[in-house]
Amino acid sequence: MTTSDYSVGKDIISYCNKCKLSLSHIITIMKDTQTIHRVQCNTCKATHAYKDPSMAKAKVRSKTRGRKVETKPIAEIWLEAVSNANGKSKAYGIKGSFIVGDIIDHTKFGPGVVQTIVDNDKIEVIFRHEIKTLIHNK
Ligand SMILES: [Zn+2]
Repeated sequence: MTTSDYSVGKDIISYCNKCKLSLSHIITIMKDTQTIHRVQCNTCKATHAYKDPSMAKAKVRSKTRGRKVETKPIAEIWLEAVSNANGKSKAYGIKGSFIVGDIIDHTKFGPGVVQTIVDNDKIEVIFRHEIKTLIHNK
């Protein structure tokens, strides 16, 4: 059995260009049994071509997503890490032993915060301008 949910006079959600919203519409003209041609907006009473609301939404969503996807500048992450770090800074040396959250003072890169321990003898450290993998525990 194949029945179409669409027919003239039935309610359908369509995107309305005038209201700029997906609203309830009434089908006024069908292109064929499966395809809606024109609809009338229940809100502004305008008759216009049917616009799939999911298509309209997808466009809006991808736009906002594009705007929202901003990677934090490394200096900002670094600043957060430093303010959350444990107490005093330690001078960096390969013989030193560091744990996550330690502030280390690097002669070349300046103050950094240990982010991850890698393979027991390496640490990933965030500095103001870059993330570096350093050796420790030697
Ligand atoms: Zn409308």
